[in-house]
Amino acid sequence: MSPLSGSANILVTGGAGFLGSHLCERLLKAGNSVVCADNFFTGNKKNIAHLLRNPLFELLRHDITFPLYVEVEQIYNLACPASPIHYQFDPVQTTKTSVHGAINMLGLAKRVRARILQASTSEVYGDPEVHPQPENYLGRVNPIGIRSCYDEGKRCAETLFFDYWRQHALEIKVVRIFNTYGPRMHPNDGRVVSNFIMQALQGEDITIYGNGQQTRSFCYVDDLIDALILMMETPKEITGPINIGNPGEYTILELAETIVRMTHSKSKLVFKPLPLDDPRQRKPDISLAKNHLNWEPKISLQDGLKETIHYFKKMIAGNVIQLDKVV
Ligand code: NAD
Ligand code: UDP
Repeated sequence: MSPLSGSANILVTGGAGFLGSHLCERLLKAGNSVVCADNFFTGNKKNIAHLLRNPLFELLRHDITFPLYVEVEQIYNLACPASPIHYQFDPVQTTKTSVHGAINMLGLAKRVRARILQASTSEVYGDPEVHPQPENYLGRVNPIGIRSCYDEGKRCAETLFFDYWRQHALEIKVVRIFNTYGPRMHPNDGRVVSNFIMQALQGEDITIYGNGQQTRSFCYVDDLIDALILMMETPKEITGPINIGNPGEYTILELAETIVRMTHSKSKLVFKPLPLDDPRQRKPDISLAKNHLNWEPKISLQDGLKETIHYFKKMIAGNVIQLDKVV
C-alpha cells in the first residue's frame, strides 16, 4: 500500500533523530504503521515522545550494525550521525553504521522484498570542483581525512545499494541530501544553523570558521520530508541517486548576519580556524528531483529560520515537548 494513501508497514532507521522524527510523524499522519529503530546515539526520545501513544507507532532500541528482523514493506535508512562533531566522535562506528548498517538493512529488504531508501548525502561530492553539483559528478573526496568516515561510509553504502539492485533486483531509492535544518536539530550538534541560533539567542560569540566565504544551501526540513516520501513512491525504475536540497546558496557569513538580525542578538561575529577538508562551496542541481518527483522546495530561508529560531527559543525556556501535538 502507498504511504500516501496509508496503511503500509514502514521501518525508519534513525527515526528518533532530527529528520527521522519528522518522517515518522508524517508517515503516521498518513495512516501508516511505523517501526522506528534507533540506538539513541544522537537521537532523543523527546523527538518522538508525542508519537509513543499512537498504536501504529513502535519504537525499538536497536543498533543497525546488528541484524534486525521485522516484517515491513518499506525501509527508510536514515540511521547515521550527520553532524561533523557527532560523526567524528567515534569514526569507526560511523563507518560501521553506514556500511554494516546498509548491509543489514539491504539484507532485511531482500528477505522481506521491501523497497528501501538510503539517506545519502551531498558529502559524497566532497570538496567539489563542479558547481552546482549534478548527480553525475563523481566527487572529490579525501579517503583518509577526518570527514572520510562519513563521506566514504556513505559512498560505500551507495555502492552496496546499487549492487543489491543489480545482483538481487532490489527496489532501491538513493537520495543525496544537502544541508537541512529545522526544529529538533540537536542544539549542540555543532552544525552551523543550530550553532549560530543557539549562540545568537544566548548572546554568545557567533563562531565563523575560516573567513566565512564558504557556501552552503539550506533546505527546510518539511520540504525535505516531502521529497523523501515522493521518492519512495516513484516507479521501480527510478533508483536515484537524486539530489534533494534547496538551491539557494549563501555564504556562512551571510547566514550569521541573517540569524543575528532575525534574533535581534547582540552577539559578535568571531573568526575561528577552518576545519580540515571543509568544502568551499555546495549547491545542489535539483533538475532530476524536479523531473522525477515534480518537487522543488517551497520554504524560504527566512521562513524556515523563523520556525527554527522559535523552536530553539522554546527549548532554552525548557518547554520544547509541548510544541508537538500528540499524533
Ligand atoms: P541525526 O543525528 O539527528 O539522526 C541520526 C539518527 O540515527 C539518530 O537518531 C541516531 O541516534 C541514529 N543512529 C546513529 N547511529 C545508529 C546506529 N548504528 N543504529 C541505529 N540508529 C543510529 O541526523 P539527521 O540530520 O536526522 O540525519 C539523518 C540522516 O540523513 C543521516 O543518515 C544523515 O547522514 C542524512 N543526511 C542528513 C543531512 C542533514 O542536513 N540533516 C544531510 C545529508 C544527509
Ligand atoms: N561552521 C561555522 N561555524 C560553526 C559551525 C559550522 O562557520 O559554528 C561552518 C563549517 O565550517 C562549514 C559550514 O559552516 O563550512 C557548514 O557546517 P556544518 O557542520 O553545518 O555542515 P557541513 O560542513 O557538513 O556542510
